[in-house]
Amino acid sequence: SLRNTAATTATQSETDHRSIQQLVQKQRDFFATGITHDVSFRKQQLQKLQRAIRQYEQELFDAMYADFRKPEMESFISEVGFVELELKLTLKDLEKWAKPQRVKEALLNFPSRSYIYSSPYGINLIIGPWNYPFNLLITPLIGAMAAGNCIILKPSELAANTSAVISKLIQETFEEDYVAAVEGGVDTTQHLLAQRFDHIFFTGSTRVGQIIMKAAAEHLTPVTLELGGKSPVIVAEDADLELAARRITWGKFLNAGQTCVAPDYLLVHEQVKEELVQLISQCITDFYSKEPEKSPDFARIVNDRHFERLSFFLRNANVRAGGQTDALQRYIAPTLLDQVGWEHPVMQEEIFGPILPVLSFSTLKEAIEVVSRHKNPLALYFFSSNKEKQQAVLRCTQFGGGCINDTVSHLVNPNLPFGGVGGSGVGSYHGKSSFSVFSHQKSVLHRGTWLDLPVRYPPYHNRLDML
Ligand code: NAD
Repeated sequence: SLRNTAATTATQSETDHRSIQQLVQKQRDFFATGITHDVSFRKQQLQKLQRAIRQYEQELFDAMYADFRKPEMESFISEVGFVELELKLTLKDLEKWAKPQRVKEALLNFPSRSYIYSSPYGINLIIGPWNYPFNLLITPLIGAMAAGNCIILKPSELAANTSAVISKLIQETFEEDYVAAVEGGVDTTQHLLAQRFDHIFFTGSTRVGQIIMKAAAEHLTPVTLELGGKSPVIVAEDADLELAARRITWGKFLNAGQTCVAPDYLLVHEQVKEELVQLISQCITDFYSKEPEKSPDFARIVNDRHFERLSFFLRNANVRAGGQTDALQRYIAPTLLDQVGWEHPVMQEEIFGPILPVLSFSTLKEAIEVVSRHKNPLALYFFSSNKEKQQAVLRCTQFGGGCINDTVSHLVNPNLPFGGVGGSGVGSYHGKSSFSVFSHQKSVLHRGTWLDLPVRYPPYHNRLDML
């Protein structure tokens, strides 16, 4: 019977593989009709998406609550509301973005006109993570549709309830030869990756990012990778500490720390370390009460594996706030760890949970060196009231994006391209950048026909001597 099960699984896998292959082919046929090139078609479809999201709003909130007790307010601000703003902006500006852009001529080409045409890549695969399961799949979808593509979405299987609602929403709103959602785990993703796509947009871990890039290399498919990393928050001795404490506490414990741009660790000047630790502890109580497990505003860890991984960091650690866990609920209290060295397991990987290790420094130069030694983070936050220090940090550190005197909020501005650098990602999106990241910049010269100087044509004789 074991062999039978294996055989059934193999057959199932072949069926999945074939149906995915057929789906990609259907999208290729539809793309070839040229319908998606029409900007008014794109706008109509984006409006359909807008209506569907409104209709499904409550179902989405409920699904995210079921997945990891995400508070409805956070589901609104960071998921559905965020996506609605992106849709509004895209519908307003799409015609402007899609217009061919005329550029200056090269004199040698006289007479001519040169244009950059933003042309859709074709068939796109968008793979999402579980931590902002709606936003991180649908925001890229908006850019891909705006740019005139066909799209296959792969929601994360770890946020299973949200994945099911997204899949239903997509199925009811679009023909599958235009936009389709394929649910499933690693196997399904591998079947998808075996196909030839024209562009892959992936959000997730650096480890899986490497798998995606290797698979894409097989077909020379361009990739956009939105990955993670250990994002530092640095606090100088001259910072407004009360404000820093509030903004760090909010950015760190939002979504129970399961945010790609959450401050991963705190680097604080030794003179103000004690005061800041006290202030952050106080903020935790102010935000989530003395018993955060009872707070409706604090999410849970997504699954047992991540719960175990995070709980391990608390063993033999110097806990300054929080530290309580409850395996049954997958609850980990908002936690501050002190006296943490780089050899501690919590400093060896992206934490991705509600644990904030506190490290200190004595000179800003030292803080910059520490940050530079540890790859290129997705985000960096610096709290200081001194403009020169701010400039020094910006100049000397490499990171995807970030804030001075705040955390996380840079991604709210659609005019700021959002993405990583090096290990934290390739390419960026949001607002117009989302349109651009899903477009190929096709450069075309329109040459005049009324003049044709023969200088470039052979035989050249001694024409060089005349120049
Ligand atoms: P993940 O890399 O484990 O999974 C992401 C996606 O990849 C899922 O859809 C999953 O099904 C698929 N996947 C997993 N293993 C695979 C494999 N072996 N082969 C093919 N596909 C596979 O990431 P996650 O746990 O969902 O999300 C957390 C990570 O994502 C963190 O590192 C975080 O920093 C990062 N992240 C980055 C951003 C960003 O915008 N840069 C946003 C959110 C999360």
